[in-house]
Parts: sequence; C-alpha cells; structure tokens
Amino acid sequence: MALLNITYRLPVSFVQEEDDILIKLSSGGLVSALHSLPGGDQQLKWLGVADFSVADWHKGQAKYEGEFELHPVFLHDKLNKLFYEGFSNSVLWPLFHYFPSFVEYTKDSFDAFIKANTIIADKAAQIIRSGDTVWIHDYHLMPLAAMLRQRCPGVRIGFFLHTPFPDYELLRLLPRHCARYLLEGLLGADIIGFQIYDYADHFLECVRRMLGLQQRQYRLLYQNRQVRVDAFPISIDFDKFHSAYDEPAVVQEREQLRALYPGMKVIFSVDRLDYSKGILNRLKGYRRFLELNPEWRERIVFILVLVPSRTAVKKYAERRRMIEEMVSSINGMAGNYRWTPVVFQFSSLDYNALLSLYTGCDVALISPLRDGMNLVAKEFVASRKDKHGVLLLSDLAGAAKEMSGALLFNPLDDEEVAACILQALEMPEAEQAQRLTTMQQQIRTNDVHHWAGSFIAALEAPAEQQTSWLEYEDRQALMQCYSTAERRLILLDYDGTLVPFHPEPQRAEPGAEVMELLAALARDPRNEVVVSSGRDRATLERWLGHLPITIAAEHGTYLRRRDQWHEIATGAETWLPEVQRIMQLYTERCGGTFIEEKAASLAWHYRTATGSNVWSEAQDLISVLQSYLENLDACVMSGNKVVEVKPASVNKGSVLHRMLPLRQYDCVLALGDDRTDEDMFAVVNTLESSYSIKVGKGSSRARYRFDTIGQVHSFLIQLSMAYSVQ
Ligand code: UDP
Repeated sequence: MALLNITYRLPVSFVQEEDDILIKLSSGGLVSALHSLPGGDQQLKWLGVADFSVADWHKGQAKYEGEFELHPVFLHDKLNKLFYEGFSNSVLWPLFHYFPSFVEYTKDSFDAFIKANTIIADKAAQIIRSGDTVWIHDYHLMPLAAMLRQRCPGVRIGFFLHTPFPDYELLRLLPRHCARYLLEGLLGADIIGFQIYDYADHFLECVRRMLGLQQRQYRLLYQNRQVRVDAFPISIDFDKFHSAYDEPAVVQEREQLRALYPGMKVIFSVDRLDYSKGILNRLKGYRRFLELNPEWRERIVFILVLVPSRTAVKKYAERRRMIEEMVSSINGMAGNYRWTPVVFQFSSLDYNALLSLYTGCDVALISPLRDGMNLVAKEFVASRKDKHGVLLLSDLAGAAKEMSGALLFNPLDDEEVAACILQALEMPEAEQAQRLTTMQQQIRTNDVHHWAGSFIAALEAPAEQQTSWLEYEDRQALMQCYSTAERRLILLDYDGTLVPFHPEPQRAEPGAEVMELLAALARDPRNEVVVSSGRDRATLERWLGHLPITIAAEHGTYLRRRDQWHEIATGAETWLPEVQRIMQLYTERCGGTFIEEKAASLAWHYRTATGSNVWSEAQDLISVLQSYLENLDACVMSGNKVVEVKPASVNKGSVLHRMLPLRQYDCVLALGDDRTDEDMFAVVNTLESSYSIKVGKGSSRARYRFDTIGQVHSFLIQLSMAYSVQ
C-alpha cells in the first residue's frame, strides 16, 4: 500500500550544470511532514509536473536517493503556461484571494486547465494500486479528485486547499459551468480539507447554492458517497525553527545584523512578491507611523525582503514597480544621508539569513490582504527562543485564527497599522514573552507533523456509519423483532414516504392502497401507528381521520390520539405575519413557487419553480428568515424542495418524546424522507429494538434506506401480513 502525494511541483528538481546533473531537494514543511507520517512500511510516492526536461530526468533519476518514489509528469510548455500562469494563477489565485478585478478568464486557459489535469490523472491512474491512499494538494489540481474517482473508483482520495476558498459571491463570478466543474472536481474526494472553518463554510455554501447539496455535520452525500469537509490548519516544523536560534551560523549572522543597526529597533518582513501580501499597505502604514511619530526617526529600520515569484504573470511585474516606487518615496520623504527608513531586498534569503532576521528583529510585520494561512508568521514565532519580539499580523490571514498573542490589524487601515507598530515598539519585555509563550505552545502542539498526521488519519478512518440498504439479514432481524414484540410503535411520515409528491400539495391524497395498509397495520392491537407530518391538521383529519391511528400535524404542534386533538402553545402568532410577508416577496420573485399556510407554520414550496436559479433563491430566503427569527422560538427547515418555518420547540422528535412515556414499546419503526424526519430518527436511534429508515437519496441519520415509496409499501404489506398469519 502506498501514499501517493500529488502537487503541482515535485519536491525535487534536476538541473544540468556543465557535465553533471545537480539534484535540488525542497526542504519545505510538506516534505518533512510526509516523512514523519506513522505509516510503517507504507511506500511514499510523489507525482507532480516536472520543471526539468525528460533528458535531465533520465540522466538524474539514478542519482536520486530520496525517500519518495518520484513520478514526473511532462507537460508541453504551451499547455503548462496556459494551465499554470493562465487559469491557475490568473483566474483561481486572484479570485480566491479576493482580487476579482485581476481575474483574466479565457476559454483557452480553462481548457488547458482541464487538459493538464486529465494528463496528470491518466498518469496517476497508472501508478495507483488497490488499497492506496491519494493526497491531492491545492488549487491547480481542483478537478483531479473527480477524474481519479472515475478511473480508480475504490481508492481513498483526500484534497487539501492551501489557499483560501472564497465566498459564494466571488465564485459565482466565474462562468457557471466552470464554477460547477471546480466544485464537482473537489467532490470526487473523500475528504476536502481547508485551512480554517471559514473557508470550509464558504465551500459548503457554494455547493448548496450551485449544486443544491445539503450538508449535515460537515458531511455531504454525493453520488452515494460520503464526502467529509473539515479544517486542517497547516503549520511548520516547530522544533527546526525553535532550535535554529542557537545554531552557530545563525548566531553569527544575527550578530552581524544587529551590528549594522546599533541601538535601533528592527522591523522585518519577508514574502513572495504577490499582490495578496499587502506589501503596499504595509508600506503605507509604516509611512503613516513615521508621520505620526517623528521621535522614532533614525531609531528604527524596516527591512523589507521580497522574493521574486511568478514573474511571467503580468500583475506581478506591475506590482514590483509600484512597491519600488513607494519604497523610494518613503526613503526620499523621511530618510536622510545618515538613515534609510526602508531597506529593500528583492531576492530570496538563504536559511541562515532568514533565521538571523527572524531571530534578530524586534517586530515582524505581516500584512496580507488575504492569505490561506501564512507560514512566515508561525516561523517567526517559533524561532524566538529568546522570547523577545512582537508579531504584527493582518487579521485577514488564516494564521490570525491561531496566533492569539499577535497584535492583529486590518492592513487597509493605515492608522491602525501605525498604531500597532507604536504599540509593538513600546511593548514591555514581559508582555512580549508572555504573548510569544502562548503562541509557541500552540504551534508546538499543532505543528506540521500533527497537520499531516491528522489529515491522513481522517482520510484513512472508516467512514461514519452510513445509511445502508435494508439487506436480507437486517430485514430478517427486523421481522423477528416485530413479530415477537408486544407493543410496537410505527412512525410514518406522509409526503415522500407513504405518498409521492404532487406539484399541488392538496392533491397528494392517500390512495386506496395506502388507506388499506394503514388500516391493516392499525387493526393489530399490538400496533400504535402514528402518521407524523408537517401538514396542517384539517387536511390530515380529512384524509386519515376515519382511521384508528394517531396523527401528528404540523410537526407535532397538534397531536390527535383517540379522536382528540391536543395543541401545544407555540407563540407562532408573533412571527407568522412577518414570515409570510418575506415568503411572499420570494414567491413573487420566483415563478411557480407558492406558500402553504398552516396554523403555526408556513412552508414555501419551490418544487414547481420555473427559474433555474431557485436553489440559490431558496438559500437567500433561508438566510433572511434566519436573521429575522434569531432569538425567537422558531426555526427554518430546509426540506425536500420546501423551506419551512415552524416553532423550534416542536418537531418530529418531540412527538416521539410525548409518545414514549405512554407505553412500554418493545419495537419502534420510523420511516421518513426529508430533513424534518431527521429529528425523529435521532430519537429512534437512541432506543433499543428500533429501526430508522430513510426513504430516497441524501445523507441521513437513519440506519437504513429504501429507494422508493414502492419499497415502503411492500415493507408495510409484509408487516401487516405478519399479523394476519398469527
Ligand atoms: N521563504 C523562502 N525563501 C525566502 C524567504 C522565505 O522559501 O527567501 C519561505 C518561508 O520560510 C515560508 C514560505 O517561504 O516557509 C512562505 O510561506 P507563506 O505561507 O508565508 O506564504 P506563501 O508564499 O506560501 O504564500
């Protein structure tokens, strides 16, 4: 069994130098995290796009002695350019970092994106063996999970997105077919991991609105598979950065650095040159600080290091020019022949230089406008073994969720950046130490090994108990339980369980077969038959009132036992008129939808909607209703093509709580098809000798599933015959 890691770039490169081939190894966190996975004899394979030629690969392959079995994919230059610089970095990157105006969508680049992923999928499928685990990384490879699911159906696939995932309002800016394709691509995975829950929630909102998929407890049921969505904040190798403080080469370089700026405070930042990093905003904030605090001039220096990145993409070259102009304007405005306020370097740092700056500065100033996580923040904190230094961090970075000891700011607010710089420079040593200690404990526990370990453990864990078909053996056990029971409780939902949906709800009357079935079941004195429905009581009384059964109407607001209706006081009259008004707006907006009025609840039906965007409108309506109903005893339920508002304190579970004390039931059966039946299943599952059965598709708490109403009828016939043969 192997773990196949798939990233855009391989962790190894081969470079021809004079007569020899040089092997360049990446020392990134992912590499060491994968090495540290507790996999026993699990083989590690790595597949990615080669940034070297086939000839260099053939020459260098034998010399490579690393732990990964490498699988380079060679893409044609033109295809790779459209795939990487085009769709990946000129569409997805800007969009996912909230720069929609930087998006340059072209059909060609999207086609190249699909083609490159298809080539990668074909290559991966040749390598994957049964029992392998596949871990796909990042936005370049969003369609890959679905492609691999087609090619290798049984394989376990995890996907982790290193960038943010944007809000629905941004994703919908892409052509509809493209946005849906990306979402469906991810849904090929068993687990979709995000850096923080905000991004996971954005994703779930997008699949709800664009694909009509409902989640339950961060799980989706898609093509009869469970897809788990979760947050796994990426981290760093804490021990490596912490111990670097004492490494002789780092100590020496740090001393040289401090000697360059005697008696001065050093502010440091390092990033790839990227518009998402907020470098101009950082400079503006620093300029404002110098304006407001002239007494700090010549006592402070800002070392700004930018690492060249994606230089072939137009927006990146532009940004460099803008930053250089701003640096020179600040130095010209505030500096003099003795003092340079901003020391600027546009090239990468080697390890010793990076660590000497992390450990030798007084303040780290990190100001992304959007960042999936931001590892520089964590590296700086981990490296400060001396417990000196202050982290200034944008609250728009994913890392802000974890770095509770940082001074957080909005990078767009110059005044706030300036105030935070001042607070950092004046912060007492004891406070610096206390803030760093808290953050170091957090990173030490949640380091990159923990990140990779928990992702793989979640991927390899058996799926949560899923709703399964009522197979022969289960059915035998159920019949055994039923036929030996003295007191049985049979809970049946109405629409979608006993009777098919009708475009006009009032016409979904029970046919003769259903009447006969209910009557036959009720005839058995050991049975208590309950039809539990969201429908109004008058309709249920009219249709089923002549049967000797219990009826729960409007999810249990009304309960009829032995011909007597009982009502629960719900206070619904306080919110019904406004909910009706809001639903009316959506009814007018969305052709073919209508409101079903009941005594203590209202349902907006969109089964017969004529527009194509009605899922999205339904989500809007749900959000509006939720805001209006906050802190009221009412809840919004999203059912089967219906949005319903009902009293929060009554539901099909509370019906059961009222029924259970009445008798000692020794067999409980519950059948239902939609979200409202889940409350009933939740209670039923806690009882002994109980069977919860979901009718139709969709994720459910129920233990078993029937596909169709026809199967429900056959099952109920079987139950009623168990009585007749006694
Ligand atoms: N880094 C680097 N070379 C440098 C300076 C920094 O490789 O010259 C590393 C740094 O140590 C960190 C990474 O680049 O691990 C930047 O990660 P981050 O999450 O902060 O930003 P990203 O570049 O991934 O958007």
